[in-house]
Amino acid sequence: MNKDLFIVASEALKKAALNEDAKKFVLENEKLFNVLKRAANRYIGGETLEETVQSIKKLNSKGYVVTTDFMGESIRNEKDANEATQEFIKFAQTVTQESLNSSISLDLSHIGSLVSKELAMQNLQAICTEAEKSNQEVIISMEGTDRTDQILDIYREVLKSHKNLGITIQAYLHRTKDDFKDVLGLSGSIRLVKGAYDTPKGLSIPRGEALDEVYLDYAEQLLSHNHTCAIASHDEKIHGETLKLVNKYGATNYYLERLLGICNEEFELYKEKGYNCRIYVVYGKEWYLYLCNRWAEYPLNLFRGLADIVG
Ligand SMILES: Cc1cc2nc3c(=O)[nH]c(=O)nc-3n(C[C@H](O)[C@H](O)[C@H](O)COP(=O)(O)OP(=O)(O)OC[C@H]3O[C@@H](n4cnc5c(N)ncnc54)[C@H](O)[C@@H]3O)c2cc1C
Repeated sequence: MNKDLFIVASEALKKAALNEDAKKFVLENEKLFNVLKRAANRYIGGETLEETVQSIKKLNSKGYVVTTDFMGESIRNEKDANEATQEFIKFAQTVTQESLNSSISLDLSHIGSLVSKELAMQNLQAICTEAEKSNQEVIISMEGTDRTDQILDIYREVLKSHKNLGITIQAYLHRTKDDFKDVLGLSGSIRLVKGAYDTPKGLSIPRGEALDEVYLDYAEQLLSHNHTCAIASHDEKIHGETLKLVNKYGATNYYLERLLGICNEEFELYKEKGYNCRIYVVYGKEWYLYLCNRWAEYPLNLFRGLADIVG
């Protein structure tokens, strides 16, 4: 696909994702809803916890470790944040009861950080307390740049009392060179991503070779220290270089991590070769935004979506 067309398609899909009228139209139109749901199924564990447990069991039985996120973000009232927290707690209990191999991933803005820092901390502590009963990890996702400081503060605070906590770090932010030193000195696991959010000018490195180099430099620091980490990317070049680093340093505390529905074939090969692979599974009813985002970040996925709808 032509690069300019790729960018235009991506922008259009991002707008579609955020357009409330479009979302309402899809949710109220049964036929369209069912058609798009068929495309979404590739990327989600299910709409309900019960469906998702079955998806996780299938992935576990194929040898994949899973991390699971109940979809949602940017909650602006306490009641919804507390309800989301109860869902994560229920998920942690289900993991124990069903002997699933899954950790938890979450956005702090889903459990109250936009209401208050105190609410998010209290909810995160409740989730960590439940999760640590069966050694489940809780990994915090990283959001837009207006939230980075608060997320890192909460992470540092809660890590003092809950060792089963991890953080996501975005390689594309210039500030990460300092944040990275700081979090590498802490005991929690680190998920390394390139970074997904638009940032104000001058704060981030655009996609390209310079970013790949920075990303791989962070990956090398993680793998050479054998720091517990996930190298989360869908980029074949990053995968190839990461595997070389894993072999060079004999790293063991790592995962190559992907989202459900993306890079299936590549990861099957990595797993067969004995590399540690983790799949990020999302579930819930908010799949419309999630589907648009998967299409927006790589518009060629639209063709895959059409095949899923027709097939
Ligand atoms: C497990 C996981 C957790 C994440 N958590 C966060 C988070 O907390 N905060 C955050 O900001 N970002 C997060 N991200 C998103 C991340 O920051 C990137 O935006 C995303 O992974 C795309 O970057 P990339 O490294 O995969 O490759 P890019 O540099 O975007 O693309 C390189 C190549 O990878 C392939 N590729 C990329 N995306 C896709 C796709 N969707 N489908 C098919 N092929 C693709 C294509 O071949 C593409 O040319 C997460 C990603 C993963 C995998």
